[in-house]
Amino acid sequence: MQQTLPPGIERVLISADEIDAAVRRMAAEIARDYAGSPLVLLGVLKGACFVTVDLARALAETPGAPTDVALDFIAVSSYGNAQRSSGEVRLVQDTSHAIEGKHVLIVEDIVDNGHTLHYLQAMLKARQPASVRTAVLLDKPYRRVIDVTVDYVGVTCPDEFVVGYGLDYQERFRTLPYVAKLRPELLS
Ligand code: 5GP
Ligand code: MG
Repeated sequence: MQQTLPPGIERVLISADEIDAAVRRMAAEIARDYAGSPLVLLGVLKGACFVTVDLARALAETPGAPTDVALDFIAVSSYGNAQRSSGEVRLVQDTSHAIEGKHVLIVEDIVDNGHTLHYLQAMLKARQPASVRTAVLLDKPYRRVIDVTVDYVGVTCPDEFVVGYGLDYQERFRTLPYVAKLRPELLS
């Protein structure tokens, strides 16, 4: 079916149904790995707001998943331009509860060069949690500059600057239900 796209969007790369299936598959893997142990889902704002909430909901609907699931959020920003993060990542908002002794699952929207995740994983591991793992909706493995461990991957992302489902370009397009390619003429 032909879909009318908003101005600025060139085409849909990952549909809402594909995202839903990927999130449910990740939830099944997480349910299997954590079984009965309590879990802190730690979403990285703002990009991972949609995937964090949808993953929490999918976990609640997955038989055998942990029932003791806490939700927390952290916000980081990185210098560089709007399209590429630099190696310099800054903590903007910390967790609301201490993670010492907890099983923490970082939930990220996308891993590109790896700097953001590397920073987060190192910072969180230094706080002596019981464990730290990472779930990422979109992976651009061919763009990695730093080797980071990603335990759960939703979808391998085409080599495009993408928006939607939490991802923005200059704060626009986050609320699109799919992941899409921007019209290149919009990128400055
Ligand atoms: P990394 O530090 O791994 O390069 O990238 C992580 C961050 O860069 C993401 O959390 C996101 O903020 C930004 N980023 C990387 N690729 C994209 C993309 O294709 N679209 C958008 N909107 N942000 C991206
Ligand atoms: Mg992010």
